[in-house]
Amino acid sequence: MGYPRAEMLGKPLDAVFKIVREGDHAPVANPVQRVLQEGKIIGLANHTILITAQGEERAIEDSAAPIRARDGTILGAVLVFHDVTEKRRLTADLAYQATHDLLTGLPNRTLFLDRLQQASRAVTRQETLLLVGILDLDGFKQVNDGLGHDMGDILLQEVARRTREALRTEDTIARLGGDEFGLVLPEIHHMKGAQHLANRLLQAIAEPILLDGNSVTISGSLGITVIPWDDGDQRSVLRHADMALYAAKNGGRNQYRFYEKTMDAQQEQLMEEMVMTQAALEDQRLIMYYQPVVSIHDGAAPCEGIIGFEALIRMAHPQRGILPPVAFAEALDHPRLARRIGCFVFDAVLAQGEQWHRDGLPFRMSMNVSARHLLDPRFLDDIRTALAAHPGIPSEMCEIEVTESAPMLDFPKAQETLRVCNELGLRIALDDFGTGSASLSYLQKLPAQTIKVDQSFVRDILNDPRDFAIVAGVTTTANMLGLEVVAEGVETIGHLQLLETLDCHAMQGYLFSKPMPADEVPGWVKSFNILNYKSNLPPPPPPTQDSVGYND
Ligand code: C2E
Ligand code: MG
Ligand code: MG
Repeated sequence: MGYPRAEMLGKPLDAVFKIVREGDHAPVANPVQRVLQEGKIIGLANHTILITAQGEERAIEDSAAPIRARDGTILGAVLVFHDVTEKRRLTADLAYQATHDLLTGLPNRTLFLDRLQQASRAVTRQETLLLVGILDLDGFKQVNDGLGHDMGDILLQEVARRTREALRTEDTIARLGGDEFGLVLPEIHHMKGAQHLANRLLQAIAEPILLDGNSVTISGSLGITVIPWDDGDQRSVLRHADMALYAAKNGGRNQYRFYEKTMDAQQEQLMEEMVMTQAALEDQRLIMYYQPVVSIHDGAAPCEGIIGFEALIRMAHPQRGILPPVAFAEALDHPRLARRIGCFVFDAVLAQGEQWHRDGLPFRMSMNVSARHLLDPRFLDDIRTALAAHPGIPSEMCEIEVTESAPMLDFPKAQETLRVCNELGLRIALDDFGTGSASLSYLQKLPAQTIKVDQSFVRDILNDPRDFAIVAGVTTTANMLGLEVVAEGVETIGHLQLLETLDCHAMQGYLFSKPMPADEVPGWVKSFNILNYKSNLPPPPPPTQDSVGYND
């Protein structure tokens, strides 16, 4: 209590034992008073604070008990109390730690969910909007990897400080983990206000940050859903904000997106595709069709004009019949399925090729590889395993088709992987050439032996001088580099003849055959005669500017 004994003696208790309630400092009834009145032991209320002679505040816990004479009359009271300042500080620390992120000082996920729940309840009472957002930093991993984790931590702290500053006091920004933040923004009155707030937040993040003398710029992507229009439970609200975030990332980052109902529909269709494909994989309902690649130049191809076959995947659906890959395209490149499907394709196609080689049909077998599988660290092991399991087909007779855009995702890695594939003997084809942003100089940097000119260009060479020019250019360059050029989507004799004049001799398309099941291939091979395609008619003239759009 801090008083010298002499000063205390004789004073009324209230004058030296001053207690108040923690927080608001409201007076607390003196327990001794009550003991004398009520005659029983009285404990102090929690959160009581003693004010000492020096004006210091000490958290105390205490109780008071009556002193009785033999006959039971109350003579006085004993007051027992002790200092719990340290204990109470620890309790408060623990409570803080359980609800806050220690690095940034922001609320953590637990407190975020709590605030979200409170705010959602309040919305039904007020006529305002509640925004629930998920914010994710763009490219944070690069900063972390490039400048080290200490710098990454400082960056997170700075982002936390700035976003906190950009928001209003009633808003909550919480760190959900890593570089992901959760937002609860209540009492928004119109969408303009919502957009304004979102913009301010992203701008605050995008300002350059000084890290260890380097100016670093980072941005954020933000997905937002609006309650009460989004009237789902907490889980679905967060899922919707997450979908909107995904849309913002896909839209090019450093932007916000509001959740829309159609996102759900897209997501649902995607889920359905995944489930359907997974089931087909497990039930062995994924099958390979084969489409011939032919050569108009005799001699260039081993089997009288047939260079080989491209394996194209199909799904046998119990109700819908045989489905083409567009029906499950997302699944083909999905993180959980791409590798499994890729391994299935290798195994099925190499087994088929082995069989045909044994039967005297030594075709080249081409397999499409998804970008995700190509960049998977286990890709080379997968292909080695498949080749080892099918020694009946030499690796020189196998080709993998990689879409032109796949290597863009991680060029050095793709380059290295493809180089090793070449070492193993495999041929490499760049598929859908011309559709991505790859330039011709790209051809020098990637080890490829074949270019497959996309059918969208081939289809229109008869009518569109621009497509004609592209195919002519690609063919000339590829020929000069010693690469094989395959024109995809050759549907008519006219296409074939014009391609020949361009020195493009390898072709694939419905003119020769649609993709077919493996058991139809030997029959087709027997009936195929390359001479049928060599008419003596003069080739059609190349298109001129005037002919653009004739067929439209
Ligand atoms: P792609 O590799 O460019 O395959 C060529 C596509 O063009 C095939 O479609 C083929 O049926 C079609 N096609 C061939 N000739 C003609 C023609 O003359 N006219 C027209 N209009 N189309 C023709 P499909 O089989 O539907 O495959 C589509 C895409 O799916 C493939 O394009 C490939 O990117 C992907 N894909 C197919 N099989 C697999 C696979 O096993 N794994 C992976 N990851 N992707 C595959
Ligand atoms: Mg292909
Ligand atoms: Mg293609």
